[in-house]
Amino acid sequence: MLWPLARPRRTRNVAVQERLAQARRDNPEAEAWLGLLEAALDESEDGARWEAALPSVAADRPVKAPLLCRAQVRVDGRTVRTWVRRLLDLAPQVNGGRRDMDGLALLAAAVCQDDARSDALAAAAGADAQAVRVVGQMAAVPLLQACARGLASQIPASWWEGYCPVCGAWPVVAEYTGLERKRQLRCGRCGTGWAIPLLRCVFCDEIQHDNLAYLAPEEGEQTRRVEVCQTCKGYLKGVTTVRPSAAWSILIDDLMTVHLDVAALERGYRRPERPGYALEARIQDGGGWWRLWRPA
Ligand SMILES: [Zn+2]
Ligand SMILES: [Zn+2]
Repeated sequence: MLWPLARPRRTRNVAVQERLAQARRDNPEAEAWLGLLEAALDESEDGARWEAALPSVAADRPVKAPLLCRAQVRVDGRTVRTWVRRLLDLAPQVNGGRRDMDGLALLAAAVCQDDARSDALAAAAGADAQAVRVVGQMAAVPLLQACARGLASQIPASWWEGYCPVCGAWPVVAEYTGLERKRQLRCGRCGTGWAIPLLRCVFCDEIQHDNLAYLAPEEGEQTRRVEVCQTCKGYLKGVTTVRPSAAWSILIDDLMTVHLDVAALERGYRRPERPGYALEARIQDGGGWWRLWRPA
């Protein structure tokens, strides 16, 4: 019999482990998603092999385009396919469909936030579309976080768009930090943070105060709220913190505050279906270690 290789747990960051353990205690029903998230954070910590895929910023990017727009990302196809397969195996919600979908294609769809492409891959494999979308997004975390670290110095100082300056996603949370409550938007994919003036809708740029409001529980937790826009009906979670959260913490926090999403959805608010900015990035198999070399 062939024993499956026991994969050692590689999560070394104690803070991540403690936060995950607490999340499991607080939300046992989120276990399946937490397993995927743990794998993505674990893989992200092993950043070196993803950092090797860091692309250069495309010279033909349109104005106001994120840094990864039109980027040509070369990854090791074998590594990516093994990685995506591991996530598919961890996700029982994928629903028994054939799990032989192309990991590289799913990663590319996820990086570009191309839900139609992801859904087509799920349909072809007879798998649950929503679960495959989540697997794709988790698969993209290590690559996108490596890109965010590598490209941070190139983010324009005057970036005032509502979407992430690196990967084009809408923010998942607005953080209010320090004594002055500086507003910083945070990306739930690559973890990038960027400042944006107070009281402006990130989705439609509404600045009329009459059209902007927030939902907060009548009692209990006072550090969290949901910012809503009456003009586009969009919503964004908000949190007051002492200092900006680590990228991994943003991801866990987003999953642990689903009750805020539910509160907003029940009141008719929603997150835009379209991505903040469609990247048109290309993910290609760069061959990796096992490329066939020919003598010159
Ligand atoms: Zn991002
Ligand atoms: Zn709006």
